[in-house]
Amino acid sequence: MSGFNSDANNQLILALSKGRIFEDTLPLLEAAGITVTENPETSRKLILATNDPNVRVLIVRATDVPTYVQHGAADFGVAGKDVLIEHGGEGLYQPVDLQIAQCRMSVAVKSGFDYEAAVRQGARLRVATKFTQTAREHFAAKGVHVDLIKLYGSMELAPLVGLSDAIVDLVSTGSTLRANNLVEVEEIMDISSRLVVNQAALKLKRARLQPIIEAFERASKARK
Ligand code: ATP
Ligand code: MG
Repeated sequence: MSGFNSDANNQLILALSKGRIFEDTLPLLEAAGITVTENPETSRKLILATNDPNVRVLIVRATDVPTYVQHGAADFGVAGKDVLIEHGGEGLYQPVDLQIAQCRMSVAVKSGFDYEAAVRQGARLRVATKFTQTAREHFAAKGVHVDLIKLYGSMELAPLVGLSDAIVDLVSTGSTLRANNLVEVEEIMDISSRLVVNQAALKLKRARLQPIIEAFERASKARK
């Protein structure tokens, strides 16, 4: 029997988003000896149990993972580089690129729009995106003036209905762009997901976290 305080540093909370990040993190957890015993796709629960009574998984929106970890509501989590750039990464230690959920951040325009000419001529571009921080930095570095239009989804629609000249979005196969008569005209960066750890938790719970970080590192290296 142990009291709450002596137990506290033994409890681990992991923040994950449903879908590809959850699916791709499961094998990494297995490599660390952790099996999630509930399925977020069929369960309505937001706190999932694992085979280890001291490890629980929070199911949150992908963009909320860094926030839960930053504030210590979760000790660690998995988040895309895209999400981490927009969040800023404050209070987060990012020890491992997990090589999962790989895609790229790109600029796309409506087929027929001459992006290169617009850039050359110094035109002011209207850019619709969920990734305003990344887009702002990208176009500032190129010296292109942009009006950013913040969207929360379905960016592909914006150029089609004249809301914007271009979009900044994640691309993997390009089939969504093609289906909407859009063309990828510039790659901004490669994207993959990172392990993020709360900086205070890393100190207080090092004994529990370090072996998991190492197992994730080994398993993700094996993926390369
Ligand atoms: P939602 O789809 O619920 O609106 P979301 O788009 O933020 O939320 P996911 O689609 O699960 O969440 O994406 C999670 C992460 O996976 C993204 O932050 C990104 O890093 C990566 N990702 C997004 N789209 C792709 C893709 N097509 N292929 C590979 N990885 C992707
Ligand atoms: Mg998505």
